[in-house]
Amino acid sequence: MSLAVPACVPAFGGQPLDRADHLRTDPAKLAELRASDARLLRLDALVPELDGEGRLVWDEANGASGELVFLGLGEGRAHFAAVPGQGNADPAYAQRQIWGMLGQLSADDLALYGTARSVLDWHARHRFCARCGQPTQLAKGGWQRDCDACNAQHFPRVDPVAIMLIECDGKLLLGRQARFPPRSYSALAGFVEPGESIEDAVRREVFEEAGVRVGEVRYVASQPWPFPSQLMLGCLGHAESLELAVDTSEIEDARWFARDEVAEAMAKGSDSRSFVPPPPQAIAHDLLTWWLEERA
Ligand SMILES: [Zn+2]
Repeated sequence: MSLAVPACVPAFGGQPLDRADHLRTDPAKLAELRASDARLLRLDALVPELDGEGRLVWDEANGASGELVFLGLGEGRAHFAAVPGQGNADPAYAQRQIWGMLGQLSADDLALYGTARSVLDWHARHRFCARCGQPTQLAKGGWQRDCDACNAQHFPRVDPVAIMLIECDGKLLLGRQARFPPRSYSALAGFVEPGESIEDAVRREVFEEAGVRVGEVRYVASQPWPFPSQLMLGCLGHAESLELAVDTSEIEDARWFARDEVAEAMAKGSDSRSFVPPPPQAIAHDLLTWWLEERA
């Protein structure tokens, strides 16, 4: 079996800007870029404004006040975004307004927005030092916060989450949480804990949620998920048996689905008889597409 990444890049991945790390430590150059023809992402708090064609809107960055994050260089221009007064760590499913917009954005705009959203939200929710409690200041073009009181440096969070297709006898194990829309099933997932490898996290989560022992685990593809700062690590694991013992305090249900059922669900969406698949913006959707191609 090929271990190549899926042909499609999961939503929010792919980077249209040069992040130009060397400029982050050069405040004079950043100020010069900002005063020339730099662009500022137009946001209402963390919600993007879209033009009539469903694209992100950019204003002139010159004259903008407050804390600005340097997103990178594109088409010869610097791109910035402003830290809002408040962050929003709600999961994506709790933000209906955002979900409607995500489907309109191009792949490049999704990647730009996702990057901006995640780092801006982190700044808005981390204004005080975790070590001494004093206020912190934006540093390194927005990719760091410094505490002048105790000299601590703080960096934007990235929280790894293992998300896995589990296979046994040609079937796939998928689960649903109580908050999912009716008949929706998706890949099991869980945060990687301190001291765990990705493979350890896959095996632990699947056993905790479904009572299934997993042997071999392989990495497939990853996705940054900016609600607020997850890095989804897509894997394929092989279960040792089809026996299930679902922990309903963790998930509502988990079941094995035959390839035909997965193919029908992915082809028909909510019209499918077997289950409703995850939305196209979720890496679980890409993993299912990849698996169907691998098992064609
Ligand atoms: Zn401090």
